[in-house]
Amino acid sequence: MRETPRQICLEEWDQRQATLARQGGGEPSYGGPLGRHVEREGNGRLRQLRFDNSTAALRLWNFLLTENQRLRAARAQGERLVGAMKDLGTVPVMAYALPRVRAFYPDGAWWTPCLMECTDRLLNQAEALGADATTCPVRAMLAAFQNGEHFPRPDLLVCSAGAICDDFSAIAQRLERLGSAVLWWEMPRRREPETGEASCALPGGLRAPADQVECVRDELRRVAIALGRLVATELTAERLRDGIQSANAVRRELQALRETVYAAAGAPLPALEMLIAEMLAVHFCSDRDESRVVLGGLVQEATRRVAARQSVVDETGIRVYWVNPVADLRAMNLLETCGGQLCGSDFMFTHALDLIPEDLPPLEALARTALADPMVGPVQDRARRIVQECRRYRVEAVVVSRIPGASHCAWEGAYLREHLAAELGVPAVEIEVPPVCDALLPALRTRLQAVLEIAQSRRRA
Ligand code: SF4
Repeated sequence: MRETPRQICLEEWDQRQATLARQGGGEPSYGGPLGRHVEREGNGRLRQLRFDNSTAALRLWNFLLTENQRLRAARAQGERLVGAMKDLGTVPVMAYALPRVRAFYPDGAWWTPCLMECTDRLLNQAEALGADATTCPVRAMLAAFQNGEHFPRPDLLVCSAGAICDDFSAIAQRLERLGSAVLWWEMPRRREPETGEASCALPGGLRAPADQVECVRDELRRVAIALGRLVATELTAERLRDGIQSANAVRRELQALRETVYAAAGAPLPALEMLIAEMLAVHFCSDRDESRVVLGGLVQEATRRVAARQSVVDETGIRVYWVNPVADLRAMNLLETCGGQLCGSDFMFTHALDLIPEDLPPLEALARTALADPMVGPVQDRARRIVQECRRYRVEAVVVSRIPGASHCAWEGAYLREHLAAELGVPAVEIEVPPVCDALLPALRTRLQAVLEIAQSRRRA
């Protein structure tokens, strides 16, 4: 049943899903009405969100919201679980290259307070464990580990150290002190190669000194050995090569989706679904093959809508680039209600969007990709990539979304806002989005409307 693209509420989606099910719509094993995630898991935030009305979007949401159940089912069937922390895109590629292993990011618990509208009390519990409101909402992970009520406790916990934010570093160390053994691996802060210094090309058009690549490669080798021990199966170069090819297949789908949506005259998919879809690249939402299918469905839907000249938002909406993920998903809906459309994004893991080189020894390829992480290098590198994307997608305004308590956001957000506005000649605004932003909605709306109105007046000039 094809419907005109639009955003609908949870109640309407549940009615539509029931109709589709009666017609034999064919849903995956994790499919069903979205409303059940409110009743069973307490994800009350879903009642406040507006969702895309395509079946591809329904599949995306059900895939996202069943991750913890799918992880528990995998464990019950004898699979081993790896908790990867902070690197956002590297260790899972290695883990999924092994049989009977799944990797996920406990970091993802930072959205639990949003989804459960703080009824989970994870942020309060984290405070009691030593991580108060002066730290990033990722502190929810600390409490989720302790109470075991959200994600299953992993069999192996791996975390990158070194060039990571102070928040995560402090929280992960606290986690270890509380009894969770962590395999740390070192990520140096990426720097420009000096004149005459041996250097390597990284994905995303970056370069790094060859010594740094070698260091990361050796660190990842330690991780590979630990992963192999977990299932008594060596993580050989051949397995890794296959794993990289499979990860790249997912990344290609995502690249196709971004290109189709962000280049379109009117966005064929909403901002919220694009944020969720991009997140799949990081650890495949705990099912690599299915994540490819889910993304493929979104690509098909977006392509069909573009061909039919259909968009889900007002086609005249201001073309907006969004920097950083939001702690409250509702903020992505707000962009569209204020008259914007998402036409580009840097959700802090652009290195997970780039293809991993397939013509290099696999550990070296992964080391180069890990070093391209926008958060381990100078903010100027990050800004350069954003500028290129903004030009490519004809962006008219930039929103830099700060994460409350995040140690890097205070100075980095201001730099990005000023630099992007000057370089691109478009209005830019900085906002801060807490895990439940209801009380701030009027202020957030005013700030977004202001920047969109400036962009609108520039169009008319
Ligand atoms: S959002 Fe920022 S502060 Fe929080 S864990 Fe990620 S990089 Fe660190």
